[in-house]
Amino acid sequence: MVVNSLEHHLKEGINHECKLCNQMFDSPAKLLCHLIEHSFEGMGGTFKCPVCFTVFVQANKLQQHIFAVHGQEDKIYDCSQCPQKFFFQTELQNHMMSQHAQ
Ligand SMILES: [Zn+2]
Ligand SMILES: [Zn+2]
Ligand SMILES: [Zn+2]
Repeated sequence: MVVNSLEHHLKEGINHECKLCNQMFDSPAKLLCHLIEHSFEGMGGTFKCPVCFTVFVQANKLQQHIFAVHGQEDKIYDCSQCPQKFFFQTELQNHMMSQHAQ
């Protein structure tokens, strides 16, 4: 059996916090889905990938894109000022603002 790469790095049982609204999720996949919902807000019918900013007109297309293109990646955004890493650029930006702002 070939292991589905989408499931490869999805670890359960660790809390993952949304840096935008501080909600906790028990898997990176759930956080990912939640962050997609954030990207739906105020988009007027279009859905923007929070990682690469590609725009989709259907929510499920964006979701498929994120899991296929970004879902199996480790946290790819690392903070230049501390050892923390993040799944999304928006998370990193939020972290920089809240943790490293003057
Ligand atoms: Zn959130
Ligand atoms: Zn993308
Ligand atoms: Zn940092």
